[in-house]
Amino acid sequence: MKKTLRYNFRLKPNPQQELKLIEFGSYARGLWNFLLSENQRQYEADKTFSFYNEMASKIKAIKKLPEFSWVKAFDSGAAQQVARDLDTALRNGTSKKSHQYFPKFKVSYRVKKQHNDSYRSVNNNNCIRIENGAITLPKVGAVPIVLHRNLVSSIKTATVQYRHGKWEVSLTQEVVCDEAKRLLKSIAGYDINSKQTIVGSNGLTVDNPKYLKQAKQKLTRLQRQLSRKKKGSARWNKAKSRLNSLHGSIARKRMDFAHKTAHRIANESDIAVFEDLNVAGMQKFNGRMVADNIMGLISDLTKYKVELRGGVHHEIGRFERTTGVCSHCGQHHKLALKDRDFTCVSCGTFSDRDYSSAIAVQRLGESDLMANGTVVRLTSSTSTQQKLDVKTKVFALAKLSLGSEEIEKAVA
Ligand SMILES: [Zn+2]
Repeated sequence: MKKTLRYNFRLKPNPQQELKLIEFGSYARGLWNFLLSENQRQYEADKTFSFYNEMASKIKAIKKLPEFSWVKAFDSGAAQQVARDLDTALRNGTSKKSHQYFPKFKVSYRVKKQHNDSYRSVNNNNCIRIENGAITLPKVGAVPIVLHRNLVSSIKTATVQYRHGKWEVSLTQEVVCDEAKRLLKSIAGYDINSKQTIVGSNGLTVDNPKYLKQAKQKLTRLQRQLSRKKKGSARWNKAKSRLNSLHGSIARKRMDFAHKTAHRIANESDIAVFEDLNVAGMQKFNGRMVADNIMGLISDLTKYKVELRGGVHHEIGRFERTTGVCSHCGQHHKLALKDRDFTCVSCGTFSDRDYSSAIAVQRLGESDLMANGTVVRLTSSTSTQQKLDVKTKVFALAKLSLGSEEIEKAVA
C-alpha cells in the first residue's frame, strides 16, 4: 500500500523570486477564475460542465491569444494542475454525497490586503529537485529552502503559498507502507476529557499544552485591540499583521504537538482506537472546543502513522456510549461533568472516569474489528484470568492466517 505524505518547508526567496512567486500565485488564481466562469457559462447554456481534459485543451488554445500571453509565462505543469484541482472541486461540489460547496471565485490579494494565493507545480522529469539548500521550481529557479527534515522519497508536487507572513512550500511524496503486521500485540483505546487531556487504556496520558491556552488568551487580546482601530488605517494594518503572525505560530505549535502525540500513540499501539471525534466533541464540549478539535487532528495523524507501520487504526461508531461504562462488567452510569470517578452499582468496582471510558473505547473497537473480520483474537488457553488483563491481548490480522505453532508462540 502506498501513501501520499505532505511536508511543509519554509522558503526564503530573494526579492526577484518573491515577485515571481506572487505573480505565479495570481496566474493560478486568474486561470481558476477564468475556467470557473467558462464552466458557469456552459452550465447555463446546456447544463453540462467541462472536466479536466476539456479544460486542459482550452488552456492550450488560449495560450495563443495575445490577451492570454501570461498563461505562456506561467509554469505549464502548474496551469494544468489548476484544471485538475477545479475538476476535483466541480465533482465534489456537484456530488450529492459530499458536503463540500460548489467552487468559488478566488479573490485578489490587492482586495484582501493579506494575500493568500498559492500554486502547485508538478514534478515532471525531475524538474522539481532539492540541491545545496535550495529547491528548483519550474520557471522560478533555485529558491533557498529550510530543510528541517530529510525527504523520505522523491517529490510529486510542490505547492507554494504565502501564509501568515511567510513563504512556504508543501511537498507531497509517495511512501510505501510497511508490510501489514500479522501479529498485533497491543491494542489501546484513546479518550479525551473535557479538559482536553488524552487518556489511553494503556495508561498513556497527555495534557493539552499550556502554551496553546496562553496563546489563545493573547489572541483574544489582539482581536480586541484590532476591533478598536479604524479599518484600513496604518495602526489597523499593523495590528492585523501581528494577529496574522500569531495565528501562524499557534497553528504551527498545534501541529507540532499533534504530530508528537500521534507519534507516541502510534509507537505504543499496533491497534489504535478512537471515538468519532466530530460528534463526541460536540456532545462533550457544546460546540466550544469543536473549532479547535485537536483530538480529531491527532486521530487523523495517528491513522497514517499507524498504517505506515503496518498497524490498524479504527474509529468507533458515532453514538456509542463510552463515558461512565464500568470497565469490569460493562454497566452504564450517568455521570455529571464534575464526577471524576464512580463506583459501579452492579459489581462495586471503583473506576476513574477517563480511564474507564478509554477502556470502553478500546472494547468497542475490538468488537468492531472482530465483527468486520479485520482481526481475529488469539486466545490463550492457560487461564481465564489472563483474558481480563488488557495488556496480554494478542490479535492476528484475519487475512494473513497463522500456523498453530505461531499462535502458541504468540500467546505464550
Ligand atoms: Zn461493574
